[in-house]
Amino acid sequence: ACCRGEQDTGRHKANLATYTQDRRAYEHWSDGDFNQSNRLMGEYHKHAASYLCPNGCGNTAKMTADHIGPISLGFAHRPKFNALCNSCNSTKNNRMSLSDVQQLIQDEQAGEQVVSWHSKPIWDALKGLVESNQDAVKLSRLMATNMQQVLPILAEVYEQTGSEYLTRYLRPEYAFQDHRFTGFHPLEPEKLVTITKPLDSKNKQKNAERYVRISFEELERFTSKTNRRVKSSTSDEVEREVTEVVAAVKAGLNEKADSHLLRALTILAEQAKHSW
Ligand SMILES: [Zn+2]
Ligand SMILES: [Zn+2]
Repeated sequence: ACCRGEQDTGRHKANLATYTQDRRAYEHWSDGDFNQSNRLMGEYHKHAASYLCPNGCGNTAKMTADHIGPISLGFAHRPKFNALCNSCNSTKNNRMSLSDVQQLIQDEQAGEQVVSWHSKPIWDALKGLVESNQDAVKLSRLMATNMQQVLPILAEVYEQTGSEYLTRYLRPEYAFQDHRFTGFHPLEPEKLVTITKPLDSKNKQKNAERYVRISFEELERFTSKTNRRVKSSTSDEVEREVTEVVAAVKAGLNEKADSHLLRALTILAEQAKHSW
């Protein structure tokens, strides 16, 4: 699956596609270098040659980039993708397979950050239970639900305290580095060389501001004004922690707020484990 929705390559739709791709990359309050990941995805996009799809579907086609752990399930942006034909990528959508989960666990054991801060508790609680493709789909569904509970929680904190506290969870500095690649081949990721250099142009400043703005605009979709917030989906226990987060932020105690926020996320993870 791809957070960019880049399948539509029509030139006349390029502006809309860019708009959508950025929003979708920013809306999940994800960890990881969104900029580097985005640039590498562009390499897949530019690479026109066709290959036999590694997924075994039999198609020979242009390769597309599959986030192994989907951003919309709470995984982090990473400069690492699996090549899939467009058809397999669309079919996968946001459902992980057993091999996706195994690869994520392996990458994590090798020291990579694969999951975002808000979804680490549920990932840690459930990843060890996945033994089949069916389990991997179940984990995907529970992580998608978790994400849909996390965003309203952040929205409530935003509504009650403003943007200052939550901005600590965003990483606008990723917009200040530029990444170029040599040796890109969709099926030979080990040959990729990444050249990173700092940039501080006005343009990059704009990108950083846009990233922060869009992240908060996404939360506004869940605030009470727009009526999207579904209180009944979070338990009283979680609500109590969120109340503590708000109180701590208002008292200027950010670390205390962090620990109550983590507690809320941990309760959500425990609830998901009960329903496994
Ligand atoms: Zn994507
Ligand atoms: Zn395929």
